[in-house]
Amino acid sequence: MTAQPILIGGEWKAGRGPVVVSHYPHDQSVSGEVTGASPADVDDAVAAGKRALADPKWRDLLPHQRALHLYRIADLITARAEDLAQLQRRDNGKPISETRALVASAAGTFRYFGAVCETAEAELTPSRGPYLTMSTWDPCGVVAAITPWNSPIASDAQKLAPALAAGNAVLLKPAGPTPLVALELGRICLEAGLPKGVVSVLPGAGRSVGNAIVEHPDVKMVSFTGGTSTGKAIAHVAADKMMPVILELGGKSPTIVCEDAEIDHAVNGVIFGIFSSAGQSCIAGSRLFVAAKIYDAFLEKLVAKTKALRIGDPASETTQMGPQITPEHRASIEAYIDAGRKEGGAVLCGGERPAGAVYAKGNYLLPTVIAGLGNRARVAQEEIFGPVLVAIPFRDEEDLVAQANDSVYGLASGIWTRDYRRAWRLGRRLEAGTVWVNTYKLFSIATPFAGRKDSGIGVEKGRLGIRNYMRQKSVYWGLNEAPMPWAD
Ligand code: NAD
Repeated sequence: MTAQPILIGGEWKAGRGPVVVSHYPHDQSVSGEVTGASPADVDDAVAAGKRALADPKWRDLLPHQRALHLYRIADLITARAEDLAQLQRRDNGKPISETRALVASAAGTFRYFGAVCETAEAELTPSRGPYLTMSTWDPCGVVAAITPWNSPIASDAQKLAPALAAGNAVLLKPAGPTPLVALELGRICLEAGLPKGVVSVLPGAGRSVGNAIVEHPDVKMVSFTGGTSTGKAIAHVAADKMMPVILELGGKSPTIVCEDAEIDHAVNGVIFGIFSSAGQSCIAGSRLFVAAKIYDAFLEKLVAKTKALRIGDPASETTQMGPQITPEHRASIEAYIDAGRKEGGAVLCGGERPAGAVYAKGNYLLPTVIAGLGNRARVAQEEIFGPVLVAIPFRDEEDLVAQANDSVYGLASGIWTRDYRRAWRLGRRLEAGTVWVNTYKLFSIATPFAGRKDSGIGVEKGRLGIRNYMRQKSVYWGLNEAPMPWAD
């Protein structure tokens, strides 16, 4: 297999870094090989981005004209939806039903930010004298979009669409294991007519390519989604460069079942919240708090239903849970399960690899429920990023809130109750950027998304999401009839 070229400044060229291989997590077969970018390729992509920004073909587009590019990208994604969904399935092993939904969401994201682009208004600010003042918004310049492997096309679109709508040039850096869909998105951007250099796609290792992008003096803003330790390292570089960043990081989200919850709804919601995406989701509801009165009965139902999940080939239309991304990632999850056992936890289901020929070559792991540990246990504190749910009983609301908020993370949360007043009370007290009430893991591009504490800084999505990629500028228009009196 010859390694594919990558998109450097509008040209398909061989990257000068190590070859990046995408393995299908279902059976380890090779899905594709791409040439990886090198720091020298980053330099070339930045230079091309700067040229594109200075070129009237991109610089002088009016918002409604820029929006057309986004609408065309959305249309091309929709036209190739099935191919993109299959490619992403090969790239990261998610079930096909899930990758189809991610592709549809990526198209929706481009459409949404096209609409935001052509309807965003500049503000006239209140004047306090004989002048008019207004705020206008400029693009940041060359910006970076650095994404993780768990939902590539959706994460790529979530950054690329608002960054382009704002008029920037973008360096898209996909995660090591999943380069393929990002390159296809780059191809679509060119076909949609974006001028050369506006988008580069630079696969490769984070510590070389990612770092070279973040440290580059002419990269003026970074939008990053990934792990908390990587995010903190990027924040340090950003502080030295005085560069704005958005950091969407890890999570250890509490999902809460009150004694008055509709039990069947809560069971399904908790299972979907942790085990969809095979647990490889930043917003996974990985800590389950159940009212002590219903704890045993609830866990019995939950475990029975978890054992019935359909695990297997991501190509099958009926698969609910696919494999883990890499053998190394599965090993790190298994180490956490062992740590839970050593701390005295009881593994109620899962905790091992599924048996059978279909799973033999893949990175499969059974959905796992651990009970008998408190919230301070390592498996309840650290992000496992896999199909592991830790169940903990709670006595009353004070006990619940104290435990739920006892985490370095603050990404998401779920509350299952029939009592809307209780849901409101709890929701206001939870330290989390998103609260789902009687649902979980719903996502709309129109709704802002942000993490608290170690889950990140900055708000993505929503109408104001475009402003992350812009710099505000104030303009004063003097209306004096006479010269300024001071100099007389
Ligand atoms: P990661 O931090 O290892 O990598 C994320 C991206 O950063 C990759 O493209 C990687 O190559 C790059 N990178 C790594 N080191 C870098 C460096 N020094 N400089 C610049 N770039 C660098 O994360 P991952 O393993 O790909 O993804 C899993 C993590 O992502 C989990 O912690 C998960 O919670 C988080 N995540 C968060 C969200 C969110 O919206 N909050 C969404 C999805 C995933």
